[in-house]
Amino acid sequence: MHALVALLLAATLASGRPAIVSKPIPFDAQRRAETARYAQRHYGLSTWRLSRPKVIVEHYTASTTFSSAWSTFASDVPDAELHELPGTCAHFVIDRDGTIYQLVALNTICRHTVGLNWTAIGIEHVGTSDASILRDPRQLAASLRLTLWLTQRYGISVANVIGHSESLTSRYHRERYAPWRCQTHGDWTHADMQAYRARLAALARSKHVALSRVGGPVASGC
Ligand SMILES: [Zn+2]
Repeated sequence: MHALVALLLAATLASGRPAIVSKPIPFDAQRRAETARYAQRHYGLSTWRLSRPKVIVEHYTASTTFSSAWSTFASDVPDAELHELPGTCAHFVIDRDGTIYQLVALNTICRHTVGLNWTAIGIEHVGTSDASILRDPRQLAASLRLTLWLTQRYGISVANVIGHSESLTSRYHRERYAPWRCQTHGDWTHADMQAYRARLAALARSKHVALSRVGGPVASGC
């Protein structure tokens, strides 16, 4: 093998970046403007840009196909629950066969978790329960590899790899709009996330990757 090729291959393997299929949703100037308005209203930050993310939030789609999730996130319409723009989205969706799709650039705020969008990367899993994803070896392996790579890339602690249902006790939770201050969802329960984080820590150990443990939940007041 050519020395340079060997060097590049070694660098790629060391980075731990899993294979990612690019399937961008439309994120034009209008959606960016809607995102900046959302960030201003809910976080006091007038920007659509995600910089130095501190949290990774795991979700499941409550549907059974990648294409339906992609279509929901692509359609920039007010969400059915909270009726606000921009439409909801996630940076990544992991399909049941373990394919990792990226829908939104990592420098862009995506609307997936009330209180945390300003600093959180969102990962959706095609499926109807977190237990089903924990039981699916291919989907779980892809999820753990993606999440571990993101923790290394951004210096994110395993304590800040959370399920959507754990959003209110994140130390990074911020919500200026009072009616939403205690709003969350049930996806990825604390018990299932404890199992997920243990698997993530085991993967890091097996790859000799240092995974920070600093932080942890805080009282929500909800
Ligand atoms: Zn969710």
